Amino acid sequence: MKVHNFSAGPGILPEEVLRKASEAVINFNNLGLSLLEISHRSQDFEEVMEKARGLVKELFGLGNDYDVLFLQGGASLQFYMVPMNLLKTKAAYINTGTWASEAIADAKKVGTIDVIASSEDKKFTYIPKKFTVPKDADYLHFTSNNTIYGSQWKEFPKTDLPLVCDMSSDIFSKQIDASKFSLIYAGAQKNMGPAGTTMIAYKKEIMGKTGRSLPKMLDYEANAKKDSMLNTPPVFAVYVSMLTMEWLKNNGGLPWIEKVNEMKSNTFYSALDHNPLFKGTVEKEDRSQMNATFLLKNEKLEPEFDKLLKEAGISGLRGHRSVGGYRASMYNALPLESVNVLTSVMREMANKFG
Ligand SMILES: *Cc1c(COP(=O)(O)O)cnc(C)c1O
Repeated sequence: MKVHNFSAGPGILPEEVLRKASEAVINFNNLGLSLLEISHRSQDFEEVMEKARGLVKELFGLGNDYDVLFLQGGASLQFYMVPMNLLKTKAAYINTGTWASEAIADAKKVGTIDVIASSEDKKFTYIPKKFTVPKDADYLHFTSNNTIYGSQWKEFPKTDLPLVCDMSSDIFSKQIDASKFSLIYAGAQKNMGPAGTTMIAYKKEIMGKTGRSLPKMLDYEANAKKDSMLNTPPVFAVYVSMLTMEWLKNNGGLPWIEKVNEMKSNTFYSALDHNPLFKGTVEKEDRSQMNATFLLKNEKLEPEFDKLLKEAGISGLRGHRSVGGYRASMYNALPLESVNVLTSVMREMANKFG
């Protein structure tokens, strides 16, 4: 039976990518060797790294004033690396959920943090609209998509400060003006590849201003100087990210995936709003196209719903352990067909118990 994978992360990857990745594990580039057993300094791998870095710029339309890195430590290490590299006197942060809160907690260990807006008052069920960005901060940090609570920025915050964004769960999901950002980071495992690497794209001019001397592994510029291979890179994760970006590009890039993702999320939310048994947990205007969070109004029906989900081959729909309920993660590689199967199970529930 076909499994419909709604996992929040690591998330679904295109089948074609998985097939190519598994081939490379056995015989990479017809070398008679596995990708996992050749030097990262070999020409064959250096080409992979260069291609991966190039594809980020190409998909985002970024020029040579940006550098791109593939590092380890997850998006979580960026919570600390960002302030270590950019914070001189103080930084502004917006708190829209668990990951934003963690970024704030780590940044506070580096310097003064001004939390200029938060949606914590309503359990992170909306995106703050009114806030003032201080002129004297070194940068403004926000999280474009809140993976756990299911909210997403539809219009990015406007500021003259360098704009820094954790895009882990909606990177490459729609067209954006990436040149408005001074630094974007994303753990690959939600929407651009497998677990094991984190992509960082930054405007070169923002670096080197803090006067802080950093261990080289935590220093963006030191990593960039060595073409993102200061030490042994996560070769498999970079390769599979490269394949995933190639898949995206060959299908029509961000204009194409934006339409696909709009179709999927419109299909899901419209079914949700027409179903008397379920309700969404986030303000309608701030609902995420990537992670749709919702509840059964009558919790007692959960075992029935879970049973039907299982019978339909739907996997990964449980909400994050910290919030409960359900979460349908509709990342780039999830086909519309899977969303249709989910909404038909929800309709079946309404027919039986509505
Ligand atoms: C998953 C996630 C993280 C944490 O990523 P790790 O790579 O596990 O450190 C951070 N931010 C967002 C928005 C996420 O979705």
